[in-house]
Amino acid sequence: MNIILLGPPGAGKGTQAGRLVTERGMVQLSTGDMLRAAVRSGSPVGLKAKAVMAAGELVSDAIVSALIGERLDLGDTDAGVIFDGFPRTAQQAAALDLLLEERGRALDYVIELDVDEAALTERVVGRFTCGHCGEGYHDAFKKPVVPGVCDVCASTDFRRRPDDNADTVAIRMAEYRAKTAPILPIYEARKLVRRVDGMAHIDDVARAIGAILDDRLAH
Ligand code: AMP
Repeated sequence: MNIILLGPPGAGKGTQAGRLVTERGMVQLSTGDMLRAAVRSGSPVGLKAKAVMAAGELVSDAIVSALIGERLDLGDTDAGVIFDGFPRTAQQAAALDLLLEERGRALDYVIELDVDEAALTERVVGRFTCGHCGEGYHDAFKKPVVPGVCDVCASTDFRRRPDDNADTVAIRMAEYRAKTAPILPIYEARKLVRRVDGMAHIDDVARAIGAILDDRLAH
């Protein structure tokens, strides 16, 4: 099972991918996470990507496509792959087709998280994660039960992404509209797109995605 989660920043792609990892043993391939790891490690890719990411713009198609290709070759993706934040351009969509074909795989679904863009900036600007276990929180919608202490692992180390500020989010949204939204018709023509209400409760979104995958497995 190979699926793409598609939607603007804050649509819930990472949250839902995390659920699929836990509940179905699928592997999450997030180019954003891979790039952030590269920036932290100071690798050549990280050095190239750092300023581009901080500006909210897109890293080159060649770099992200290479990251995905390398990741697919690690050999732990048999239970299925969730592409999270990739592809983001028509060129990346074409590269993904090739990468999958070369490995005898195919896309099963492109799941579009349908969201109200006006609400997304608040979602993104308020979010933070536990630096130890990665649990996600939000200033308004999901605060830790004990302020400053992670509900899951009791760590007091929390992180915010430097690009989760209002100015950068506006640029990331514009990038999504200009470069990523136009790839939907490509997948629509191939009848791969399934639309899910991304404004629903996290559990309901997860259920809707699960039903789509179960339907696939049953046929
Ligand atoms: P994300 O974690 O998906 O929100 O990505 C964070 C940032 O990483 C984006 O704003 C881009 O600068 C960069 N990035 C992540 N994935 C891609 C991609 N597929 N193509 C280009 N840039 C990407």
